[in-house]
Amino acid sequence: MYHSSKKKKTSIAILGSTGSIGTQTIEVIAQYPQLFEASVLTANTNADLLIQQAQTLQPKAVHIADGKKYKFVKDALAHLPIEVLSGTEALNEVAAYEGVDTVLTALVGVAGLMPTISAIENGKNIALANKETLVVAGELIRELVRQHGVNIYPVDSEHSAIFQCLTGESAQSIEKIILTASGGPFRGKSQAFLENVTKTQALKHPNWTMGAKITIDSASMMNKGLEVIEAKWLFGLKNEQIDVLVHPQSIIHSMVQFVDGSIKAQMGLPDMKLPILYALSYPQRYVTQFPRMDFRQFANLSFETPDTKLFPCLAIAYEAMEKGGNAPCIVNAANELAVSYFLQDKIKFVEIPKLIEYALNKVPAIAQPNLADYIETDATCRALLAAYSLV
Ligand code: NDP
Repeated sequence: MYHSSKKKKTSIAILGSTGSIGTQTIEVIAQYPQLFEASVLTANTNADLLIQQAQTLQPKAVHIADGKKYKFVKDALAHLPIEVLSGTEALNEVAAYEGVDTVLTALVGVAGLMPTISAIENGKNIALANKETLVVAGELIRELVRQHGVNIYPVDSEHSAIFQCLTGESAQSIEKIILTASGGPFRGKSQAFLENVTKTQALKHPNWTMGAKITIDSASMMNKGLEVIEAKWLFGLKNEQIDVLVHPQSIIHSMVQFVDGSIKAQMGLPDMKLPILYALSYPQRYVTQFPRMDFRQFANLSFETPDTKLFPCLAIAYEAMEKGGNAPCIVNAANELAVSYFLQDKIKFVEIPKLIEYALNKVPAIAQPNLADYIETDATCRALLAAYSLV
């Protein structure tokens, strides 16, 4: 419940405002105009939607990554007091925009890394959807967060669930966390079936509507692998404290098991607006009109062990986490490339883990990487796989 109309609004920069998380964040902000304002919006290429959002929300600045669309956006917003920017450096600048309190990172992939660092270094709190940032450089981000005294609030529904379960608990009382996974559209299928699945089939997630990259990651279960690494750095866990359980109904968003054997679960209907709101409103809970869950309609909540033979990406992510250093960065870059190749019909679905394993074996390992090493690793991996096409 919120009371005060005098409270300063939380100023939010939405990086990736035209995407699935970005547009849902705008819906959330629109429901609480007394509390939140969108001060910065950014897009990659979707100039039309960015312009429309800017005209409605009147932010202080917008950024379009695609330089060819800059003039179009600039001209369309010329009559409004909105700064229009483009270019890589400018994305880091808008992430550090003066007056912004919280930067919601909803970019896809490693593109989120440098803007997130820029935001942290400039004292902004982070509402983190862009899990790839923590996968690539989790140790470094954790240290920066400590140095600059900011907070990271998870947007990913599983991590939001863990975060909610941990409220009021000490780190020492955690025995393990249990990340739940829907299992994706290919749960229970055979290897033979997976050999020839199309991108249309892979893009049909049973419970969530999301951007293309994360939907393919969910189908391959790499999404759960990335989330395991994300959880390690978000919550400061040991590798063996992170468990994954397939739960096809996506009602339990994740759980924490404590040292006394007690388990807390956070549940609800699958709707990303809830974790988005919690990341922006923490530590308060605001009244919502979101549909309520009725347990009587979910009499059969079920659980299974993930099939890492059918979905090797999950095992590869665990292996990379064990190796540490730049291994998760290699996995992330190779996965981004492999998913984009699959979406362009250049490789088969089952080739995704093969490309990632190939990259993990070929790209030189670095035990204690710094930022320059992560950037170099990402570039080396992309160069290695640039010409790769199996079909
Ligand atoms: P979408 O593809 O729907 O949206 C991505 C957004 O980022 C768009 O605004 C896009 O612009 C922009 N963008 C993409 N690439 C770049 C780039 N290179 N430079 C600048 N901007 C870029 O993705 P989602 O919203 O689904 O996912 C965003 C992040 O949130 C991912 O890291 C994902 O893993 C995570 N996440 C998503 C969930 C979901 O339900 N969707 C759930 C949990 C986590 P444009 O529209 O112009 O292409």
